[in-house]
Amino acid sequence: MALKTISLEQEINPWEAQAARFDFAAHKLNLDEGLMKVLRYPTREIILHIPVMMDNGHLEVFTGFRVQHSIARGPAKGGLRYSPDVTLDEVRALASWMTWKCAVVNIPFGGAKGGVICDPHKMSQGELERMTRRYTAELVEFIGPEKDVPAPDMNTNEQTMAWMMDTYSMHMRQTVTAVVTGKPINIGGSRGRREATGRGIMIVCDEAVKKLRLNPESTRVIVQGFGNVGSNAARLMTEAGYKVIGIVEVDGGLVNRNGIDVDALWEFRQRNGTIHGFPGASAEDPAELLVSECEILIPAATENQITSRNADRIKCKILAEGANGPTTATADDILADKRVFVIPDILCNAGGVTTSYFEWVQDRQGYFWKESVVNEQLEHIMKGAFDDVVRFSETHGVNNRIAAYMLAIDRVAYTIRQRGIYA
Ligand code: GLU
Repeated sequence: MALKTISLEQEINPWEAQAARFDFAAHKLNLDEGLMKVLRYPTREIILHIPVMMDNGHLEVFTGFRVQHSIARGPAKGGLRYSPDVTLDEVRALASWMTWKCAVVNIPFGGAKGGVICDPHKMSQGELERMTRRYTAELVEFIGPEKDVPAPDMNTNEQTMAWMMDTYSMHMRQTVTAVVTGKPINIGGSRGRREATGRGIMIVCDEAVKKLRLNPESTRVIVQGFGNVGSNAARLMTEAGYKVIGIVEVDGGLVNRNGIDVDALWEFRQRNGTIHGFPGASAEDPAELLVSECEILIPAATENQITSRNADRIKCKILAEGANGPTTATADDILADKRVFVIPDILCNAGGVTTSYFEWVQDRQGYFWKESVVNEQLEHIMKGAFDDVVRFSETHGVNNRIAAYMLAIDRVAYTIRQRGIYA
């Protein structure tokens, strides 16, 4: 069965992108039709209309979602994003990706995702806090350490998680730190969580570089996105000896063939709110930078960055997907023809949720690990998952993405068969 030919509108719909890979992998696995229907759609989709008192005294209502795709392997798990572009289809796709991601790294969680349609950059801290608290209060029966454990995602952070933890705890009349992950360290957060997604990307890139017989010192890296994921990946990879030659942001790109000083760029961005005008690199058109010559390209921004429109111009040898869904299903085929070694999102960015798992374990134990222990455990899991995916791809003659989906679907389906369906 080949991937279907589809319109651009369908191509960039994240739900379609997820479903296309799911269908293909499930057929390859000969998954029975009933289980295929069970796993194709989310278990529960919640739509909320959240009233928020704005600073100017005017009452606004925001639409939010929480989608729980699967709880077969454990509590649902996944981030919460704030963005004007959030849609139910996007949250559905992201929730399914969480199920597959947790299964790829073999941690005992299902998948979920949340989103609120809002522009967080135009809201005050007070407005964001009230919106987060009301969103959490509306979900109080549906989330919890054993039910569904939110975490940060696009435009949410440790502060957002602190508000969620506090709101849930107030309703429970006791402090429940394990209800969310990605919290500040002093209230139950894990050491290493903030950098974890970036660190996980570096670990799988190291493995890919070994596999392709490259070496970090002569490996040029371009990173798209300079948020939590992209900036940490760029910083850690620079420390590990890679040469980060390009940073792509929505409002501009930077290039320095001798390597960008990532720490200096981070400070510059903190001070100026943009990477524009950074003296240590020259400006470059972001779309061009994405298709520039390099060994590793790390899209760590948002969905649909590599599509049928630019995939044939991509020049990297390794595509390490830091974001969720940066590549469309149509672009997959083009990249495969070009023999790009793709480290698919559900493997590549799984370091975040893996360390969220460690945070949840530490909260439930009430015993907190040293950062070196967190990083060591993370490395163990990420390397193991990389090997599993690559081996699966080689034995079954499929690309890495389909291998990751097949591995994940097989693990979830196995659990469902063992548990049996309560129908
Ligand atoms: N939002 C992150 C992701 O997409 C982390 C999720 C989590 O830690 O639960 O993987």
